[in-house]
Parts: sequence; structure tokens; C-alpha cells
Amino acid sequence: MENNSFEKIISFAKRRGFVFQSSDIYGGIGGFYDFGPLGIELRNNIKNSWWNYMVRQRDNVFGLDSSIIMNPNVWKASGHTETFSDPLSECKKCHKRFRTDHLKENNCPECKGELMESRNFNLMFRTFVGPVEDSASMAYLRPETAQGIFVNYRNILNTQRTKIPFGIAQVGKAFRNEITPGNFIFRLREFEQMEMEYFVEPGKEDEALEYWVEQRMNWYVDILGIKRENLRARKQEKDELAHYSKGCFDIEYNFPVGWSEIEGIASRGDFDLSQHQKFSGEDLNYFDDQTKEKYLPYVVEPSCGLDRTFLAVLCDAFTEVEGGRTTTTESNKEKEFLLKLNSNIAPIKVAVLPLVKNKEEITNKAKEVYNMLKKNFSCQYDETGAIGRRYRRQDEIGTPFAVTIDFDSIINDDVTLRNRDTMEQQRVKISDLTSIINEN
Ligand code: ATP
Repeated sequence: MENNSFEKIISFAKRRGFVFQSSDIYGGIGGFYDFGPLGIELRNNIKNSWWNYMVRQRDNVFGLDSSIIMNPNVWKASGHTETFSDPLSECKKCHKRFRTDHLKENNCPECKGELMESRNFNLMFRTFVGPVEDSASMAYLRPETAQGIFVNYRNILNTQRTKIPFGIAQVGKAFRNEITPGNFIFRLREFEQMEMEYFVEPGKEDEALEYWVEQRMNWYVDILGIKRENLRARKQEKDELAHYSKGCFDIEYNFPVGWSEIEGIASRGDFDLSQHQKFSGEDLNYFDDQTKEKYLPYVVEPSCGLDRTFLAVLCDAFTEVEGGRTTTTESNKEKEFLLKLNSNIAPIKVAVLPLVKNKEEITNKAKEVYNMLKKNFSCQYDETGAIGRRYRRQDEIGTPFAVTIDFDSIINDDVTLRNRDTMEQQRVKISDLTSIINEN
């Protein structure tokens, strides 16, 4: 895919109400985006499918929702206060700022001016807790959800009476004051993570790392429906690894701008727990009943970005059909867009369309069908415009099924069920609709 297809996806996402620039009417704010009616449905479906796959379907993974602002000592222990920074270069002439490691040349990419000496810039957003703004009340918006998990490790272990190996999973907002946000929602300053810390006995971490890389790849392919050839698990080189890391894989997607990370799966040893043990003075050791040994567990961490996954899903599903697919006169030869989303994550699962809008028997029947289906599925009722145009509107937002109600429906209690990808239409009984849609 090329850059211009990225532009198309961005404008499509805005036009159809998936993603808007934050504070749009004020000219926006760099690195922040809002999600519209279809975007929020798609996001929720991705989150729910992650939660189902990572937590509900497993007996030894537990959920958590920790606070965004935590005791600042958490960030001292994790190393974020000291080292969570990117190198920043500022132009002496135009005063624009850039990430030094993203620069291709030694001068300003905007005006070719001379750059000041690079310095480290901490990415954490600061705020103050309580009415006094001084260093004692300073706190941070979390730059990752993971540390909320580590500080709750003992709470979960004790209250759930679980044994190693086990995992703790969390979905939530994270904030990073990125120097150069960009590529639409790829690099944001406010984003959402879906993270899990998996605690294992030391020595079992390689096996766990391999297991989770495979599991996570399967989620993208089998559950989200992303094409396998557009995904790869890239092993990080030694010089890319954090000093405590025992190995890391990046799951990358082949975006129109090139292969880029959507998830990191890291083997973190006992770095985090040992740091929190040291800084809090609390004993975080695990006691093995059988061997009577005490140890700090090792950790494998699959850390997925919701916004980047959302973007990968959109890029993967976005299909442009030159000349059009439908044969109605008005759409003939027009370019059509089709969003081939897996039916389990499509924002709208079924569209209900009365063939005509000026026959009350038909619209009444259509509303009856709509009221029945919306109990189980996210549905949209649409009676405006020619039927071909309405099909195309639904194809464009990835709705896998369209149900059309016509004159025969009133007599026979049946409807036409249209499949988005094959455009096949079958006649089905209204009473069978729910189960047929459920099976697909
Ligand atoms: P990058 O190298 O791209 O800055 P990272 O290696 O710092 O990312 P991690 O700290 O491993 O990222 O975070 C885990 C996941 O969180 C990433 O794979 C990504 O999906 C998501 N993520 C991290 N930073 C951002 C951001 N600024 N905007 C959107 N998502 C992000």
C-alpha cells in the first residue's frame, strides 16, 4: 500500500464518522483524536474481543482497572522518572522541535537551520494532586497501564488464591507527551493500551514468551481477521532491548507507511517486581507451597496498542473497487469502497432496509424486524435513497448483513438477506434471521 492510500483511509475515517480530530472547531490539538459513532463501536468490539480472548477464555488470567494517577514513587521504582525520555533537538532558527533519533540529517528538516545540542525530554505528563501546586503534590498521568498491574500483583495473588503461572490484564488510557505525534492515530499523546503481565517461575520465561507470541498473532489473524501476510513478529536485536529485558518481539503491521509496531511482547525478568519491592519495602515474593521456596516471579508482557490495532484493522479491511461492484444504474461505473471487516468486530452488524419508504405496510414490517434484531445486534435502519445506494453505504462501513423488506415480506414473513462480500442474496424467514446472523 502506498502513502496515498493512507490519505484515503484517513479521509474515509473522518467522512464516515470513525475518527475526528480532537477539539476540531478550535483547530485541533496535536496528538489527540476523538472517536465518532462508528469508531467507538469498532473500538469497543476490538477491546471486548481482546478481553474475551485474554481473560474470559482463560482460567488463570484476571482483570484489573487501576487508576490513571498513582503514587509518584511508582514511576521512580519503574525507572520512568529517570529514563522515560526521548532525545530532543531544537532548531536555532525556526525553534521547531524534533526527535533526534528520527532525523535523517544533521540540520532542521523544516528550514535547514542549525540544531541545538540534543537533550533528553521526559515523556510523562505532569499534574498536581490537591490545591497546592508544588513539588510535593506533583504526580504523573500514567505512560503505560503495566505499572498499575505490578503494584496490584500481591492484591490479585492473595484475593484470587491463584498459583503461578497466572496473568493480570488491563485495558485503559495511557499518556505520553510525544515530541512528534503523527501518522494519524499511530503516534498519539493520549492512547489506549491492552496489556497483560504473565507471572512465571524463573526459567519458564522463554517458553512463555514463545507461547504468547503465537497466541497474540493468532488473535490478530483468527479473531480480528487481519491478513497474515500483513503481520510479522520481529525479534528485537540485542541493541534494541531495554537493559533488563531478556528478549522482546514486536508484532508489526504492514501499514501504508511501512512495517510498524502495533504490539510489543517482552520478557522482563523480575525487574519490575524487584524494583517495587525495593522502593516500597514490601515483600513481593511468591511462596511455592510444594517446593517450599520463595522467589520473585519472572514476567512476560504482551502490550498491545488499541489505536494502532484499530488503524491496522481499518487499513487491512479497506478495499477500493474501481468501476463499482453493484449493477444499479446510479452506481454503475462509480468507484466503490468496501470495508471487509470480520463480522465479530464490524460496528454495525445488520442493516434493515425497507425496499420503499412510501408504503406503510412495508416500513411497519421493517421496523418490526429492526426492533427484533436490535435486541441482539448493533443495527441500523435506513429508508432513504435507492436500495443500491443504501447497500453501498453499508458496504462502505463494513456492515456484513443487510436485510431488505419488500411486498412479499408482508405476505410470507420472509426477507432478503444480503451478504456484503459476495453480494449474494437469499430469502429467509424472519423467524430464522437471528440464528442465521449469529452463525456467521
Ligand atoms: P514506539 O517505539 O512506537 O514509540 P514503544 O515501543 O515505546 O512504541 P511500548 O512502550 O512497547 O511502545 O507500548 C506498547 C504499545 O502501546 C505499542 O506497541 C503501541 O501499540 C502502543 N503505543 C505506545 N506509544 C504509543 C503512542 N504514542 N500512540 C499510540 N500507541 C502507542
